[in-house]
Amino acid sequence: MVATDDLCMASKDGDSLVTLVARTLHGKRSHTLAARVRALQFASTMKHLLALCLLASSAIAADVATITTEELPSLVALYQELHAHPELSLHEEQTAARIAKELRAAGLEVTEKVGGHGVVGVLKNGDGPVILVRTDLDALPIREQTGLPYASTRTVKDDQGRDVPVMHACGHDIHMACFVGTARALGRLREKWSGTLVMIGQPAEERVIGARLMLRAGLYDRFPRPDQAVALHCQPDLAHGRIGLREGHANANVDTLEILVRGVGAHGS
Ligand SMILES: [Zn+2]
Repeated sequence: MVATDDLCMASKDGDSLVTLVARTLHGKRSHTLAARVRALQFASTMKHLLALCLLASSAIAADVATITTEELPSLVALYQELHAHPELSLHEEQTAARIAKELRAAGLEVTEKVGGHGVVGVLKNGDGPVILVRTDLDALPIREQTGLPYASTRTVKDDQGRDVPVMHACGHDIHMACFVGTARALGRLREKWSGTLVMIGQPAEERVIGARLMLRAGLYDRFPRPDQAVALHCQPDLAHGRIGLREGHANANVDTLEILVRGVGAHGS
């Protein structure tokens, strides 16, 4: 479930999601709290959110559980809405606007268009560490064939002007729903933690350029620089109901190389 990507790697040092969330909620960087991951028996699409929200110390576990139960229906609806309206990398205009709206509603101060369609929300809540939580925003040029009632039927123009289907096939819709749930929970529980929360919506993760765009747009200069960064990602090799945690890098980085060979076409046989 947890992945650190290029943005997260830019934080000073890696740490586990459990520790980070617990530290955030308690405002004590040096205090590592044991995680409590409860058995989760909810809709599979939202299991990551629930797991994330329940990763808290016993002092606030009850509050988090209550908030999770209260927020879940609207978060599932948000997930389905996002799933039905995917946008390609660098074209995440409506998605970014939706995430910005949700962050504002959760009490964060929001700046849009930070490196393309990047979104940054900040919640300053007294002394303590700066914790960054990140979601990605973009979808893939894949035709959805799930037959789900909220399946994407969209076709859009890609950057080459071709008509392509588009689908949230990498789970970024789930990431966004988890992210919004986290914002709501931390916003509602702000009297129980201290520090600064920075929540970012990263564009163009699939094309491995959105993080760089945000960094070049001054993410770590214009906004509080994080002591720790947290990200999550759906992980197909983990069984339903399970989550994985990892400090530091979780997935390989990606580079692409395009080679254009100019010459006279021929056939070799
Ligand atoms: Zn992805």
